Amino acid sequence: MKDTGQSLGHDGQPDKSYLARCQKTLRSWGAPLSGWHCKKIYDVREDDWDAPLHVCELCGCTKVRYVHVMTHPDYFEDVSVGCICAGVMEGDILAAKERERLMRNRSKRKRSFPKRKWHQTPNGWSLTCHGEQILIGHSRHNPERLGVKYRGQCVWTYKGKPITNFLSAAYAAFNLVDPIPEVLP
Ligand SMILES: [Zn+2]
Repeated sequence: MKDTGQSLGHDGQPDKSYLARCQKTLRSWGAPLSGWHCKKIYDVREDDWDAPLHVCELCGCTKVRYVHVMTHPDYFEDVSVGCICAGVMEGDILAAKERERLMRNRSKRKRSFPKRKWHQTPNGWSLTCHGEQILIGHSRHNPERLGVKYRGQCVWTYKGKPITNFLSAAYAAFNLVDPIPEVLP
């Protein structure tokens, strides 16, 4: 697997020595070997090509782009891992791969979102998406700051920071239009 560097055999299952290593690490933490759930998945490079990749906390692989945050009712800490380790922990490699595939597709949509046909408005930009209008505009009180309005909802920050350029505004708009699906019921 290019994204994770983790090893899968011909049958799509992790090889035995890799599996044994993962289980050994879990045992050394006093953590359960199975029954984990993914509570969140995120892409460390969703809007920054140069962001450092994540190191899988279970197998130590240094090339994890899509981070699966695993949680267990009988263990006090979450564990942030790559796709195959997530599959091992939850006992379902296919579910982990499918989750990662959906996230990868969303990342592609997010990346192309600022390049869509935005129209200039008197104080910003607009785009119609799924029949609804998205507005990006400058604040009356602080022209440096941009806000995004979609379906009556207005946001002024992206990733906890004030929005001051079109790109961040477009990414904030994307998060309103195409939110990350909840992975836990
Ligand atoms: Zn791993």
